[in-house]
Amino acid sequence: MPEDRATIFAAGLLLPVSSPGIRDGALLVRNRRITGIGTLADIGRENPDADVRYFPHYTMIPGAVNAHAHLGFRRKDAPEGGTFSGWLARLIERLTEKEAWTAEAARDSAREAIEAGTTFMAESSPYGECLPQLAESGLAGTVYAEFFPHELGTPEEAVEFIVNKVRKLREGLPERVDAQVSVHSPYTVDPESSRLAARRTRAEGGRLAIHLSESPEEVEFVRDGTGGLTDIFGSNDWGGVGVSPVRYAQSIELLAPQTVAAHLATRVSEEDIEILARTGVAAAHCPRSNEFLGCGVSPVPQMMERGVRVGMGTDGLWSSPSMNLFEETLFAVKLHGMNGATGLRLATLEGARALGIEAETGSLEVGKWADLALVEAPPDAEDPGREVLEVAANGGVAATVVGGNPIYGRISDSTR
Ligand SMILES: [Zn+2]
Repeated sequence: MPEDRATIFAAGLLLPVSSPGIRDGALLVRNRRITGIGTLADIGRENPDADVRYFPHYTMIPGAVNAHAHLGFRRKDAPEGGTFSGWLARLIERLTEKEAWTAEAARDSAREAIEAGTTFMAESSPYGECLPQLAESGLAGTVYAEFFPHELGTPEEAVEFIVNKVRKLREGLPERVDAQVSVHSPYTVDPESSRLAARRTRAEGGRLAIHLSESPEEVEFVRDGTGGLTDIFGSNDWGGVGVSPVRYAQSIELLAPQTVAAHLATRVSEEDIEILARTGVAAAHCPRSNEFLGCGVSPVPQMMERGVRVGMGTDGLWSSPSMNLFEETLFAVKLHGMNGATGLRLATLEGARALGIEAETGSLEVGKWADLALVEAPPDAEDPGREVLEVAANGGVAATVVGGNPIYGRISDSTR
């Protein structure tokens, strides 16, 4: 195959995240991957034939990695928040009505994410229903197919079904789009189906997404077998095991380095954090959804201190105000009192680490895919990390590039 002509993407400030910022920095991109990084002067001189796209008034950063999202929701007519079980009950009542617009919502959600600088999306949807919209969006990403065993027979039959379903979903996908299994939650998937799915996906080298310790109601269901979720799922009788959701998830083998656990928002104890660190499971932090649904605050600084990998997730538009991961991250930065550089890292490289794809994306380094965003942040900002988060959170993403391919742009560079 002939090599693509090289392209140089350059900006007034380049923030690779994995290494210090470069004024008038440039990436050399060939065959969709980064093959060089340095100053525009050096990279330009060494590659005189490359096509140069230079944005002197912008800051170039890695694209956002959304570690937990649902595409199939829309901003309008969201169920009322306040309590998780109340919100979920209203959501379930409307599942049939929702079928009519899920695909359109998924397209719109993906578009919104792209226009906010997202390049990789970890999406969870029932039986992978939003995979077509993710695949056609231009994003790289993984759709985690949720399954609900009570619809599928015995635990063995349920797991066989979802594993085969995911195998079929993988056929004919774009190069960087993938499907995996999700064990939806401790209150919707019984312990035996959960354990079998976890073992099976790990044996096949797959990854797993779960929701965990999201709400006070989930904590009560797992510990006592009572509360708001028992009212919704009356026939789900495996709760009341007297331990925390994290400890329960460990006992049914869900926690492992290949698993990303969303939320961890409610009553995650020191002992729970110890289990998370020991098992190597990653976390996806969705603070705006947690606030909307009355789910508390995830102990993210403590988890990070113990070495738990934490990425950011927007969740979906029925529990969150936008699909803008930088806006989500800015919220987290304020919530936890983090600095801008840590925030930018959470939104990009840490998300990739949480999903086990840090060798491929999440920072601007030689060998990785050229996944980047151009932000209207001035190159001479005092705190560049904070500045790009603020600007990107407020609609200031001017271009999004996935694997060297611009999938969104509303600027022209200075070289043409
Ligand atoms: Zn979720």
